[in-house]
Amino acid sequence: MDLNIKVNDKNHLDIGGADACDIVEEFGTPTYVIDENRIRDNYNRFYNAFSKYYPDFKVFYACKANTNLAVMKILESEGCCIDAVSPGEVHISKMLGFSGDRILFTGNNITNDELKFVHDEGAVLNIDSVSALKRLAKIVDPEGLKISFRVNPMVGAGHHDHCITGGVMSKFGIMGLEAVEVYSLAKKLGFTPVGMHSHIGSGILDPEPFKLAIESTMDIAGKVHQEAGIDFEFVDFGGGVGIPYTPDEKLLDLDKFAEINIALFKEKLEEFDMATPTMYLEPGRYLVGDASVLLVSVNSVKESYRKFIGVDAGFHTLLRPAMYDSYHHIVVANRMDAPITQKVDIAGNVCESGDLFARDRLMPDVEENDVLAILNAGAYGFTMSSNYNSRPLASEVLITDGEANLVRERERFEDLYDKQIIPSHLK
Ligand SMILES: *Cc1c(COP(=O)(O)O)cnc(C)c1O
Repeated sequence: MDLNIKVNDKNHLDIGGADACDIVEEFGTPTYVIDENRIRDNYNRFYNAFSKYYPDFKVFYACKANTNLAVMKILESEGCCIDAVSPGEVHISKMLGFSGDRILFTGNNITNDELKFVHDEGAVLNIDSVSALKRLAKIVDPEGLKISFRVNPMVGAGHHDHCITGGVMSKFGIMGLEAVEVYSLAKKLGFTPVGMHSHIGSGILDPEPFKLAIESTMDIAGKVHQEAGIDFEFVDFGGGVGIPYTPDEKLLDLDKFAEINIALFKEKLEEFDMATPTMYLEPGRYLVGDASVLLVSVNSVKESYRKFIGVDAGFHTLLRPAMYDSYHHIVVANRMDAPITQKVDIAGNVCESGDLFARDRLMPDVEENDVLAILNAGAYGFTMSSNYNSRPLASEVLITDGEANLVRERERFEDLYDKQIIPSHLK
């Protein structure tokens, strides 16, 4: 099995050299636990795999996956760049020391004020529509400003319909058919278009869908190069590189993935006589997904029409199972050697029948006060959490060489309403 699971000599889950049970004792549950070294390893494995075949290569971390400040700092220190999708992400990145030229902003349906803010912060704008291009030309000085465009490469891939971001049903990007016209218009407005971007989806575990994205994006880039006279400084094929979530899924053979896709990239550069632009990729999940677990406590075991294991977290803590029907592997962190004995539902504490972490899951005997670890919770975990049901947000702990540091305090009840104002007539 390719899941990232380690067990210590007490038969407890080991997270980066720390004992999951000790973490629960010190910090309580629910708590997201992040393994610093795993993030560093993931980054270096990813960077090395691609730069080996194409040295002019940069990684832009899609930080919507996890904007914890410590996580962002770790990647900053590795030399990683940022793929930001909102002004807030640009602000956080700048605050943490990422210079503007290390931030690519891929906004969608953004306002003039947001465009201006991102431009003034020095981030590179990756434009999603002709509308945004024309508006940008009016609110900033376009002369010589380097920009890029997101194109819809007409191929989609993903672990769920909601995650497919290319193809005719997708709201993202400009059409391939209009690309020459749009890049020409950008030049006419005074901009210097230097990049092309695509992102086809998420959770891709083999090279094939990615090859289609590279092929169709490069066909569009080649045409734009030849017919609109654009010399590309970079081509960005987005993110989407997957990780195994189920025990049956295999780790992606990253070396093979890089070799095949970069061979195709080089072939296309040659075909269109395009010199050697920098290649960007935007992994989110791959860098942080398997570096975190969500620790929760079992507070009830109920036999009704089905058997339910009830825990002290819910879809307000980790939304992916409820939103995408995603599988997250779950282990009993305080008895890792316990044999599988039953099929159960693992349910959260939100008042919604869809609040389940797992249905019909093979599990060992589980008792009240056991600690469950929900694996692969590092990407789209905390960032998608909410205060629904007036539940305070979970805490986050960073493990560095076995040392635990609290990196986000658990919210208090006061945090649930401290931004609200009761008008005087209701006081
Ligand atoms: C979400 C997103 C990514 C990252 O997707 P992963 O599946 O986490 O790798 C990359 N680029 C863009 C533009 C995105 O919106």
